[in-house]
Amino acid sequence: MKEVKAYGAQDKDAPLKEMNINRRDLLDNDVSIDIMYCGVCHSDIHAKLNDWGNAKYPIVPGHEIIGKITAIGSNVSKYQVGDLVGVGCMVDSCQECSACKEDQEMWCENGSTSTYNSKDPHLGGHTLGGYSKVIVVREEFVLKVPTNLETKAVAPLLCAGITTYSPLKHWNVKKGDKVGIVGLGGLGHMGIKFAAAMGAETVMITTSEEKAKDAKRLGANQVIISKDENQMKEHNDSFDFILNTIPVGHDVNPYLALLKRDCTMCLVGAIEPLENVHGANLILRRKKLAGSLIGGIKETQEMLDFCGEHNITSDIEMIDMQDINNAFERVQKNDVKYRFVIDMETL
Ligand SMILES: [Zn+2]
Ligand SMILES: [Zn+2]
Repeated sequence: MKEVKAYGAQDKDAPLKEMNINRRDLLDNDVSIDIMYCGVCHSDIHAKLNDWGNAKYPIVPGHEIIGKITAIGSNVSKYQVGDLVGVGCMVDSCQECSACKEDQEMWCENGSTSTYNSKDPHLGGHTLGGYSKVIVVREEFVLKVPTNLETKAVAPLLCAGITTYSPLKHWNVKKGDKVGIVGLGGLGHMGIKFAAAMGAETVMITTSEEKAKDAKRLGANQVIISKDENQMKEHNDSFDFILNTIPVGHDVNPYLALLKRDCTMCLVGAIEPLENVHGANLILRRKKLAGSLIGGIKETQEMLDFCGEHNITSDIEMIDMQDINNAFERVQKNDVKYRFVIDMETL
């Protein structure tokens, strides 16, 4: 066991502060990673505040991890010391169930192990995330990071990136499709970049006039202001796919109206009750309302390679580790363009 520096909170009301945590000795399939950067995801804040009722303390958040491998176990075959790698939302799964065999480890039937806040099968207690100097992970859950991209801006791809890439691929978004991205935050800004890179006619759907300009800079061809009923009506029954990134419960009916017959709107943000869905909005024209959660390891690697090819990274604002409590407050106010990344040198 090795003691390393980390940043975490002792309970839901306590600020995050420096602490020491233990990382396991390398098992045969493990790699040890010196963490260079870690993104700040809205889930980190929900978890710390116990919004989902499953928090374990002390909590060390962080699941958008980039670093360099410093040691490998005796059976590691994919990686070498010095490799630039990433770790996302998961660090383990059974590797044997039908979900794992189909590369959908996030839905492992025996429960995948999250990067933080999951039962730790090795050290006991619970897993501790990327707001730390070092992490030890089995090689199956480690991703290769393209070296042509700006390294620190790759970190948010490990959660915000795969969360938006996976549904766009699953619903087969392609050149010429009209794709709507609802909500412009950490997820939405990646959704625009991916949909545009896939060749779709990409439409930002936002409440905010201010965000319209930024959406275009990020690659949107068009912007619809959702509060303007006439603008919304003009686009009724015209979308091939809508990716809805709004992070809270809301009225989905106005967005369902925008879909073409037989087409789908996928939720990736709101893990909470929605307002009443009007059945007519689904039944007439056979429309579908769906959801999606991150993506498997194979698809996460495919997403990173796609980013390497298309030169896609997240728009980020760098912070020192000591600024994290202020950053949490700013994320809650949606005051970041579009992702904070912690420089782990500062810990
Ligand atoms: Zn996340
Ligand atoms: Zn499994």
